[in-house]
Amino acid sequence: MDFNFRDTAVAFQSHSDASLRRSHWLFKTLASPSLVKAGKAVTLWALAWRLPVKGLIRATVFRQFCGGETVVACKPVAQRHWELGVGSILDYSVEGQTDQAAYDQTTEMTLQTLALAASEDAVPLGVFKVTGLADTAVLEKVSAGLALNAEEQLAWDRAQGRVDRICKYAHQVGVPVMLDAEESWIQKAIDDLAYAAMAKYNREKVIVFNTIQCYRTGRLEHLKGALAKAEADGYGVGIKFVRGAYMEKERERAKAMGYPSPIQPDKASTDAEFDACVSHMILALGRPENAANFALMIGSHNEQSAEKAAHLLTASGWKPSEAPVWFAQLYGMSDHISFVMAHHGFRVAKYLPFGPIDKVMPYLFRRAEENTSVKGQTGRELGLIQAELKRRKSVARN
Ligand SMILES: Cc1cc2nc3c(=O)[nH]c(=O)nc-3n(C[C@H](O)[C@H](O)[C@H](O)COP(=O)(O)OP(=O)(O)OC[C@H]3O[C@@H](n4cnc5c(N)ncnc54)[C@H](O)[C@@H]3O)c2cc1C
Repeated sequence: MDFNFRDTAVAFQSHSDASLRRSHWLFKTLASPSLVKAGKAVTLWALAWRLPVKGLIRATVFRQFCGGETVVACKPVAQRHWELGVGSILDYSVEGQTDQAAYDQTTEMTLQTLALAASEDAVPLGVFKVTGLADTAVLEKVSAGLALNAEEQLAWDRAQGRVDRICKYAHQVGVPVMLDAEESWIQKAIDDLAYAAMAKYNREKVIVFNTIQCYRTGRLEHLKGALAKAEADGYGVGIKFVRGAYMEKERERAKAMGYPSPIQPDKASTDAEFDACVSHMILALGRPENAANFALMIGSHNEQSAEKAAHLLTASGWKPSEAPVWFAQLYGMSDHISFVMAHHGFRVAKYLPFGPIDKVMPYLFRRAEENTSVKGQTGRELGLIQAELKRRKSVARN
């Protein structure tokens, strides 16, 4: 099976001419690091002074990278994508909250996304970040195996209760749910929560997914250990594979604190670990007639990664639409992978971030910053959008 990721007519089928022109303007603006830097400073200042900038944010970056401010507001985008074979994973993208009331609010929002998923085919999975439900300092102590004081123990008990409540509900309504991966110094606590939930809720089918970041060293061993433990205990395993989002932060902390960096030495090593992990799990999944109780997600904007996994699956005898494997990208990015893979019958879903505008700003700044490199993601997005605008113009002329 050959994928034509340059087939822009398929890639941008969900976009009207106006929305494509808007994206073109936005990615051109984002390509300028100085504009992004200045825009971030001005936006933070304007929000702090409660100046009326939300309309402008809504019409630009928010519209490009978020589905709406509420679960219900995301429904039209999810529906439009589903008509073209692409699912949506509603992601409550409010970050940096630090109090128990906010953790409870994130739990409620996540439950709302799962309730929607239970009633809409367009929303096939759910997701959450453990830092949305728990104190980072407590997660760090738990990860390091340090003793907790009474107050911390209470906070940790409440965090475990929230994770269990979400996974239990996901199990009850039959909707898979993923725990995102975060910084290495809190990840052990997240891994333990995820594998404990798998042991509880993945008995008949995979409901709970953990995330493995392949930019970290030793991830293939981690994966093999997780699969062996699940096999011995008789439960299923769901894994989302990503490369990892916190590389600079990880390296800086390791340097400042004088421990070996947990990150692969270079991009080629990250790519090799990603390929090794994904192929190990696809081979361990086996053929359709004797498949293990596993499910995977390839969370990546890398064309080669998507293509390699797709070929491995078909070589193992899987029909694209029947394999327990999802290909996932972020909303507003890499539609050329999402819609082309869906066009070939694979299961595809896009993270659809949502939340109040002022609270999703950290997420939006990250997307803006990661898209400032003309050589990287922006170059790719811009080139494809330009090609599609040109194609549409020539179709209109003929
Ligand atoms: C659906 C989805 C879900 C995601 N969930 C998570 C999550 O839960 N946790 C999380 O951390 N991230 C998550 N991400 C982000 C992801 O980890 C990557 O940052 C992002 O997708 C870019 O990697 P790539 O595979 O798409 O593409 P590529 O452009 O091929 O790879 C870029 C990535 O390679 C790695 N890299 C780049 N340079 C080097 C170097 N010099 N040395 C070593 N490694 C290098 C970095 O991880 C970088 O992000 C998610 C992404 C998607 C699409």
